[in-house]
Amino acid sequence: MITGTVILGGLALTLALLLLISARVLKPPPDPIVDRIESALPRIQCAQCGFPGCRAYAEALAADDTDINRCPPGGDETIRRLAELLGCEAKPMQEDLGEANLDQVARIDESLCIGCNLCARVCPVDAIAGISQMMHTVIANYCTGCELCLTPCPVDCIELRPRDA
Ligand code: SF4
Ligand code: SF4
Ligand code: SF4
Repeated sequence: MITGTVILGGLALTLALLLLISARVLKPPPDPIVDRIESALPRIQCAQCGFPGCRAYAEALAADDTDINRCPPGGDETIRRLAELLGCEAKPMQEDLGEANLDQVARIDESLCIGCNLCARVCPVDAIAGISQMMHTVIANYCTGCELCLTPCPVDCIELRPRDA
């Protein structure tokens, strides 16, 4: 009985190891073109391109599923780099995506903050510090002014200010 259990346990362990090894061996290698496209992007993860971050936008560009003129923070310089990289014509920035403004920074009115943590959950660069039920604050040096934290705040206590104010 004990021998049978040991054999079954050994088989299960072997199978698990085989699955782990095959998963690693069969995992597709990182796509160098996606890496290169991502390097040409500002990488501030603001989601203004309509993708959840720069990597996702780079993957869509590599798959020819989107256009090169969707990154407002990168502006014309990023469009030029992407056109060069992908061998296509540069074009004007798509107009309906808003404007990125790295000169602005979010600020929380700490007297109104209820500590719900919703802002911190959406901040793509972890620029909001605070624990649940406690006051939150923005680490200005990390904030890219992307505005993603404004909408989720239930008490409307986040505003954007000029970075140097
Ligand atoms: S708009 Fe540009 S910087 Fe923002 S997430 Fe998309 S690719 Fe990244
Ligand atoms: S704090 Fe707000 S504005 Fe600043 S990077 Fe985070 S989500 Fe964007
Ligand atoms: S979403 Fe608003 S209330 Fe909630 S933690 Fe952030 S700043 Fe405070």
